Amino acid sequence: MDKIKNIVLIAHDNRKKDLLEWVLYNRGTLARHRLFGTGTTGRIIQEKADLPVHRFISGPLGGDQQIGAKIVAGEIDLMVFFWDPLTAQPHDPDVKALLRIAVLYNVPMACNRASADFIISSSLLEENYNRVMIDYESRIGNPEPN
Ligand code: PGA
Repeated sequence: MDKIKNIVLIAHDNRKKDLLEWVLYNRGTLARHRLFGTGTTGRIIQEKADLPVHRFISGPLGGDQQIGAKIVAGEIDLMVFFWDPLTAQPHDPDVKALLRIAVLYNVPMACNRASADFIISSSLLEENYNRVMIDYESRIGNPEPN
């Protein structure tokens, strides 16, 4: 990972206000990195925080899957995803898939504000960082630890 990080920002509708507050509070830090987001979240951050955001399609229309593909391609360094723990989402399978792929690829991920605070205040944010990847391929059919 480079010193300039590719940071994904996503929030479900009931959490968009919380994410925007967090973004505004951390605007100075976030402005030093490259930001990505699902369609609506990205637009809100662009408009209200005046930060450039590379926007994918809206989450329910496939944006989560687009971001998952970026993670698989090694193009995302960090994800802040304020998902809604109290409301069922029509695209729940996509949400699960994105969370799974982020864990699989060892992408630092914050799903609530306290975790996001800890991540954004980490000294590693402004440093090069080597994300260790578990060699899952060699474990297929061999569940013993390597
Ligand atoms: P949205 O998508 O930013 O386009 O609302 C977020 C989501 O529901 O995954």
